[in-house]
Amino acid sequence: MIRVGVNGYGTIGKRVADAVDAQPDMELVGVAKTQPNFEAHTAVQRGYSMYAAIPERMPLFAEAGIDAEGAVDEMVADADVVVDCTPSGIGADNKALYESHDTPAVFQGGEDADIGDVSFVARANYDDALGADYVRAVSCNTTGLSRIVAPLEEEYGVEKVRATLVRRGGDPGQNSRGPINDILPDPIDIPSHHGPDVRTIFPDLKIDTLGLKVPATLMHVHSLNVTLEDDVTAAHVRQLLEAESRVFVISEGMGIDGAGKLKDFAHDAGRPRGDLWENCVWGESIAVEGRDLYLFQAIHQESDVIPENVDAIRAMTESASKAESVATTDEYLGVGI
Ligand code: NAD
Repeated sequence: MIRVGVNGYGTIGKRVADAVDAQPDMELVGVAKTQPNFEAHTAVQRGYSMYAAIPERMPLFAEAGIDAEGAVDEMVADADVVVDCTPSGIGADNKALYESHDTPAVFQGGEDADIGDVSFVARANYDDALGADYVRAVSCNTTGLSRIVAPLEEEYGVEKVRATLVRRGGDPGQNSRGPINDILPDPIDIPSHHGPDVRTIFPDLKIDTLGLKVPATLMHVHSLNVTLEDDVTAAHVRQLLEAESRVFVISEGMGIDGAGKLKDFAHDAGRPRGDLWENCVWGESIAVEGRDLYLFQAIHQESDVIPENVDAIRAMTESASKAESVATTDEYLGVGI
């Protein structure tokens, strides 16, 4: 069993903890939190051991009726791998703690690329993370773009990617984020930083990205134009994407015309927290003009990186091949529509 600790139990951390807990070859040592808020209470209800991320705050947990096992360094010492799910920049501060215990760690996409030996998306570069001590599971947008680029690159060769990312203003709980009534070029500089981040996975890829932010919390939507090296047909691209376990090609008859209905679908299907771990590509949008492919996809920012975190743990511990890990993660998390 791979013993895993989760440091930072917010949007990403609580999902990683559940995903790890569901795997047959992993054991959740516990989760570390800064404060005994509602998420701490639900973690305890789920049977997860609680550690205080800030040791001096241990008494606050006791006052809130939460029996903390100890401080975060005890969790780090006890784990084979820690998944750091703290806010952007805090992961870099935490690296010394993991190093002091010789505990390998997975960091998230908010950290700089040089925090890890490798930036990671299982579909694209699982083997690069074999035996690595520090890995960065890239951002939700980079994960979503990489899952499309990888099969296209393998099947046809990619000359250039152009992507416009229509990004949600914030996650549902982030009530201080916005805009609440505006449409912002964000970042206003073109191309945006997202393209270089995708090049941490595909170093030679030609990619330009543009970003906008809109008043929505549900998902991001990408408008993609990929110039391929070969002539293709839309039907062939569709078949290719339908064969990808982490891509959901939305069929015409489903009546899913936007991110709202996608989330309704996920809730109706009994997905935990209404999560959509897969890229959601509108089948009707897949269009081809010569070597130019166009499509729209929606990316659930809160959950698409979760299977990647689980696969990163197996790669780092060299406990499974890419195919075995992806299949196990997908089966026990419930990925695949
Ligand atoms: P979040 O704010 O929802 O959760 C972070 C949690 O860490 C909070 O509970 C916070 O209290 C806790 N925390 C703060 N300081 C800590 C410390 N020193 N030790 C332990 N815990 C601490 O943030 P999030 O959205 O889960 O993002 C986490 C990381 O994942 C970031 O790098 C982010 O860029 C990345 N990411 C976020 C999303 C998303 O859409 N939410 C998607 C992909 C990747």
